[in-house]
Amino acid sequence: MLLDRFIKYVSIDTQSDEDSKTTPSTLKQYDLLKLLKNELDELGVQNELDECGRVYGFIPGNPSLDPIGLCSHVDTALECSGKDVKPQVIKNYDLSDIKLGKSGLILSPKEYKHLNECKGKTIITTDGTTLLGADDKAGLAIIMEVVESLLKLDPSKRHPLYVLFTPDEEIGRGPEHFNTKKFACKYAYTIDGANIDYISYENFNAKAANIVVKGKSIHPGSAKGIMINASLVLADFINKLPKDEIPAKTEGKEGFNHLCYMEGSVEKASANYIIRNHSKEIIERQVQDFYNIKSELEKAYPGVEISLEIKDQYHNMYEIIKDHPESVNHAKEVFKKLGVDLKDAPIRGGTDGATFSFKGVPTPNLGTGSYNHHGRYEFAVLEEMEKMVELVTELLKA
Ligand SMILES: [Zn+2]
Repeated sequence: MLLDRFIKYVSIDTQSDEDSKTTPSTLKQYDLLKLLKNELDELGVQNELDECGRVYGFIPGNPSLDPIGLCSHVDTALECSGKDVKPQVIKNYDLSDIKLGKSGLILSPKEYKHLNECKGKTIITTDGTTLLGADDKAGLAIIMEVVESLLKLDPSKRHPLYVLFTPDEEIGRGPEHFNTKKFACKYAYTIDGANIDYISYENFNAKAANIVVKGKSIHPGSAKGIMINASLVLADFINKLPKDEIPAKTEGKEGFNHLCYMEGSVEKASANYIIRNHSKEIIERQVQDFYNIKSELEKAYPGVEISLEIKDQYHNMYEIIKDHPESVNHAKEVFKKLGVDLKDAPIRGGTDGATFSFKGVPTPNLGTGSYNHHGRYEFAVLEEMEKMVELVTELLKA
């Protein structure tokens, strides 16, 4: 049963760790990966837990139909503990404020508007001490239920299905070791979003910039004409970047430069930026801004050394999807038949599906019916998760 399955998964601590060099980043993610493998084994599904901590499964179907993939991640976010999760199940929700255990925290429909649409439904919350981990254990539970219901169908009546469960999505390493031979589908879906009537197939192009300024230190009393204060040069650099292209002043498809970290002394100062934009052309202009400011300051401060390193992180999957729209069209058509009008939701961030898309498997993202991810106010709506099982199963029917 979906609820039992979901509660079982969220009870397992699977937080990833960005400082770890191992794959998966934490061994405890195997607790859930192995459980998923066992469940596939028990269902008689051909599968493998590989040496990188990825579970790949395959269910044969009608060979004349496109093979489709489904993917979710086992790890939970770093912002909040995922240990000893004690979910509260509120049946027949009456739109009142929900007390999160004895924590004193309140989950209120006044603040979290989606709750207003959940009258009479079953809400699963935290007890206020941890996150829930519906991101992405709701996705895992939905996929496993879909697998169960597909197995009841005659193989000629279903698309061949590939499933993939990854660790380390929250630290951006989910798509590492992605093996297209073991996930040989025409297209796939990550089940890792919130609202079930949204589909995402556009995400940021992403780059990271590192600026290091080396100055010249000398006693401030006799510094005239000699000292180059690296921190002041860096401050100048930061001030010359466009003032309105920052996260606090942008939304929708507007991109930004985000100063994540800086430190400085007279001799040396450094800053890390992330650069984001949905448009490939505009992000190149943003990058050019960094190079232009570097040259400008090198002229303004003779003798200063400025190093600027800009690395690619990920790309907007729309570049791929625009030429391979089958995944999006198929989801929109099938969902519509079941009364759900899928709306487009460009992601202001990244998604594992972006990397999968560039590696040859176009992979938009679908919702899970869970909300407020990464914190204590996270909650899931059982009926929406159930609807997702129905919708995704329908995607795979002939
Ligand atoms: Zn997620």
